[in-house]
Amino acid sequence: MTADRPPRGTWSVGLDVGGTKVLGVLLDERAVVRDRLRVPTRRGTAGVVAAAADVVERLCAGAGLAPADLAGVGAGVPGLVDPGTGRLSYAVNLGIHEPDVDLAPMLSARLGGVPVVVENDLNAAAVGAAAALGLRGDLAYLALGTGVAAGLLLGGELRRGARGAAGEIGHVPYDPTGPACPCGQRGCLELYASGSAIDAAWTARDGRPAATDLFAAAAAGDAGAVRIRDAFADAVAAAVRLLVLTCDVEHVVLGGGVAEVGRPLLDAVAARLRRQTAGSPFLRSLHIAERLQVTPRDVPVAPMGAALSVRRPSLAVREGAS
Ligand SMILES: [Zn+2]
Repeated sequence: MTADRPPRGTWSVGLDVGGTKVLGVLLDERAVVRDRLRVPTRRGTAGVVAAAADVVERLCAGAGLAPADLAGVGAGVPGLVDPGTGRLSYAVNLGIHEPDVDLAPMLSARLGGVPVVVENDLNAAAVGAAAALGLRGDLAYLALGTGVAAGLLLGGELRRGARGAAGEIGHVPYDPTGPACPCGQRGCLELYASGSAIDAAWTARDGRPAATDLFAAAAAGDAGAVRIRDAFADAVAAAVRLLVLTCDVEHVVLGGGVAEVGRPLLDAVAARLRRQTAGSPFLRSLHIAERLQVTPRDVPVAPMGAALSVRRPSLAVREGAS
């Protein structure tokens, strides 16, 4: 194996640290995924660092590398991050309830001093989607999962915003007379456009994911499924319209758990977009439906984007840095 070892400092590992699993990819110098690994998430700061380090070590061992041989490690995490310091605050889904956790320095120390970049998971996914799908121009990655939010890649740079809240469109009210949202408002978009909204409205058969089952039932002509699918697609279309009308992004990539549905999701959202914009020559002229893409199944855009963020050396944090 030694003869095949890649040169030091050329490969990288990207991690997507989610509430239930840590997904890691090993990327070579041409950004090709050489290996991938998934382990359950351990909660709390110590658990997250241990699980992340475990994935990096096992991916490296499989390629005959030591973690210190990597160009770096990128970690996408659901929470407020400061990529300049590698600090993470309030990642509640990971059991991290405090501010300013020095995640990058801790992970770097655990892995022999390899540079570590910590990035918001949706921002990482936006970078990964642009690379994996070969998309140039401004892009929004719209995650349809437990909640709804977007990562924004504008002019080649991530748009984080003054408080890291850029793209949090799931909490734009969609129906102000709707049910209470945990955020304190009523009728937020994510109550209608998320995977959770489908889970609440549709019971899947045979243990299939609710979204997959719903779209299959709608395609087979089940009237109830058609109604739920169209209401969901209307809300996603509203999110897409919002992204295009605020940032005029060239591409909107649908991602998150619901994107497992694939082409039928894209078709349903495009159909509702065309219907919503039919009466407006202005909106029709923007060709919003033509800007849609769906993340292909089995393309790990979030860990890929995290691994690619290592290549921006200004962001890499080493052990002992603060
Ligand atoms: Zn809300």
